[in-house]
Amino acid sequence: MTRKFNGDRLLVATHNKGKLEEIADLLAPFGVTVVGAAEMNLPEPVEDGTSFVENARIKAHAAAKATGLPALSDDSGIEIDALDKAPGIYTADWAETDSGRDFVMAMTRAHDELLERGAPEPWTARFCCTLVLAWPDGHDEVFPGVMEGKVVWPMRGDQGHGYDPVFQPEGYDITFGEMDRWEKNKISHRADAFAKFVKGCFD
Ligand code: IMP
Repeated sequence: MTRKFNGDRLLVATHNKGKLEEIADLLAPFGVTVVGAAEMNLPEPVEDGTSFVENARIKAHAAAKATGLPALSDDSGIEIDALDKAPGIYTADWAETDSGRDFVMAMTRAHDELLERGAPEPWTARFCCTLVLAWPDGHDEVFPGVMEGKVVWPMRGDQGHGYDPVFQPEGYDITFGEMDRWEKNKISHRADAFAKFVKGCFD
């Protein structure tokens, strides 16, 4: 039996502004106020897991333990089939520079590697998202979500965040970068995981 969330403030264990905004949008209909990890001055734990689930568990448990509050984490990334599912859990790492994250660099690397491998199009790929809600007593609930699609080049659109400009979701001829944020939030990997989270922990 899934444990329910019955508070009105939810700590979201992320320092990523884009993710925090998306999660706040998705939870707005439930009257839940979202508090970010940065607001609570939480340190960023080392994500040394080998899967989205392991990394999401690390973040959620660290935040729940540090604050004594139930904490929701999101670990996500893009898997590109022709790159043996890279960057996967290293999606954010591919963007890391000494002066912050550079997603144009990361998207260019993905495209360069596809060309180097001579990978035939379509470059099928998926965004994955695992949500973990952890309680201070160590209990947790895990909710995976996915959005299938393909990598396209050149980058298109200036909405969204991260790798959105090179990801075209299945059934659409626009990229996430060209898609209105509300539309994306209805169909994305995060929306998929969220639907499961809401069904499990709120209904
Ligand atoms: P995490 O913070 O370790 O989970 O890193 C996930 C990374 O995956 C983010 O920094 C983004 O680059 C990428 N990512 C996850 N979800 C999305 C999305 O909805 N659009 C674009 N990029 C995403």
